[in-house]
Amino acid sequence: MMIVGGGIAGLMAALAAAPAPVLLLNPAGLGEGAASAWSQGGLAAAIGADDCTALHIADTLKAGAGLCDASAVTRIIQAGPGLIETLLAYGVRFDRDGAQNLARGLEAAHARPRILHANGDQTGAEIMRALIAAVRATPSITVLHATARHIFTDDAGVTGVLASAGEQVMHLPASRVLLATGGIGGLFRYSTNPPSAIGQGLILAADAGARLKHLEFIQFHPTALDSNGPFLPLISEAVRGEGARFIDETGDAFMHGDDLAPRDVVARAVFAHQAAGHQVFLDARPIGARFATRFPAISAICAQAGIDPQTQPIPVRPAAHYHMGGVAVDAQGQSSIPGLFAAGEVACTGLHGANRLASNSLLEAAICGAQAGRAMASLATRATRLPAVAPPPLPNAEPVRDIMSAHLGVLRDAEGLTRAITQLAPMATTNGAARLGLLITQAALTRRESVGAHMRRDAPGLLHQAA
Ligand SMILES: Cc1cc2nc3c(=O)[nH]c(=O)nc-3n(C[C@H](O)[C@H](O)[C@H](O)COP(=O)(O)OP(=O)(O)OC[C@H]3O[C@@H](n4cnc5c(N)ncnc54)[C@H](O)[C@@H]3O)c2cc1C
Repeated sequence: MMIVGGGIAGLMAALAAAPAPVLLLNPAGLGEGAASAWSQGGLAAAIGADDCTALHIADTLKAGAGLCDASAVTRIIQAGPGLIETLLAYGVRFDRDGAQNLARGLEAAHARPRILHANGDQTGAEIMRALIAAVRATPSITVLHATARHIFTDDAGVTGVLASAGEQVMHLPASRVLLATGGIGGLFRYSTNPPSAIGQGLILAADAGARLKHLEFIQFHPTALDSNGPFLPLISEAVRGEGARFIDETGDAFMHGDDLAPRDVVARAVFAHQAAGHQVFLDARPIGARFATRFPAISAICAQAGIDPQTQPIPVRPAAHYHMGGVAVDAQGQSSIPGLFAAGEVACTGLHGANRLASNSLLEAAICGAQAGRAMASLATRATRLPAVAPPPLPNAEPVRDIMSAHLGVLRDAEGLTRAITQLAPMATTNGAARLGLLITQAALTRRESVGAHMRRDAPGLLHQAA
């Protein structure tokens, strides 16, 4: 059994599959290159006395704008409180309040404070710390530093993975393979994701012939730090949950108190304000001295950029943040190819629909990763033989980034999408990143409506209003 990717989805799968032997592929050390280790705000779960899973389900369905799979939403959200128990048992140290109850933060479009966090704004790093320790203590899990380059299949399903590490090429037979390779933000010029998050799992799955779903739905986070670099550091929504507000260079609070509206709504408002020639800032000064203790990692990010959030507004801009679409999977994480599973951001379970509710992704990655691990462990293995072929070229996102940012951003229209297709198509046969960009663009062109995070300038009325 093989797992490709060592973020939260991959690690939870490997642990859940134990004691069944698992080979876990990750290009570098566990945690490196994983968005999981960068996640800040936290993990949503309805554990408060004032909360219930029915409310969390309703919020998730509303954000998804009519395109969620209601049974997936119910299944995953209802598993949330149990997941918290599991993570505590793995040793995750969530923050607690004065009474030693688990502290709960508020994020956009959640009816109740239900975001569990750790070390203030280092939730993902803390969960990864505990899971990596658990993986190291589990003898059935072998970690191999390698990159999956190709999925082999035959008429009966998956037969193995072609992987490489430096110059070394490996043909690894496996009749059960989980893709847990994360997101696609690295296909864009402006993104909060690790630059290596270029949808490698989606490229592997597409090339193997797996069904992909909802590729056009990409969430843009309204508050990436407006800076130069291979990625834009995120200023978590939790900062607005604690009282920060949008202002422009004139001091105008242009969101008029609606700062915690759903992400797509806020990202469009910030984009429109910038397009009208304004600079946009997040004014965290109302949080005062508490900022440094509640958000230590964001404080460090700001300090690096020479900004003191206690006295200065933080310059922000929208950036590609999360992919709602992915490999279409069932409740077990099984794709349309027998033996090929997907979990975490690379998968499309139906939880997010057209727009993800904040902090539902760590929840989904952990729950669905574990479910896929259990499902794979319960399947009978079969012997497979692999042909000795050379690996395809590594995908190269660089020539794709400006095209995606120009035409697949917060606002789209048929003219721009058609231009993107013309630019991506010639690169697609030899470059997997262009091939994936092309698939995303074709999906965006085909959906001639504005819904959730997919806003078509040429079809502006939101057919399904996202809250
Ligand atoms: C800055 C930031 C903040 C976020 N904050 C939150 C938050 O507060 N709450 C929340 O719910 N969500 C948040 N998210 C989203 C969330 O972090 C991700 O959706 C989630 O962590 C994805 O987990 P994953 O296991 O699917 O993928 P990842 O954690 O990205 O792990 C994927 C792994 O696969 C490896 N990989 C990729 N391709 C290959 C290959 N070909 N071969 C081998 N290995 C490969 C990568 O190197 C990586 O280690 C945030 C995301 C970012 C970028």
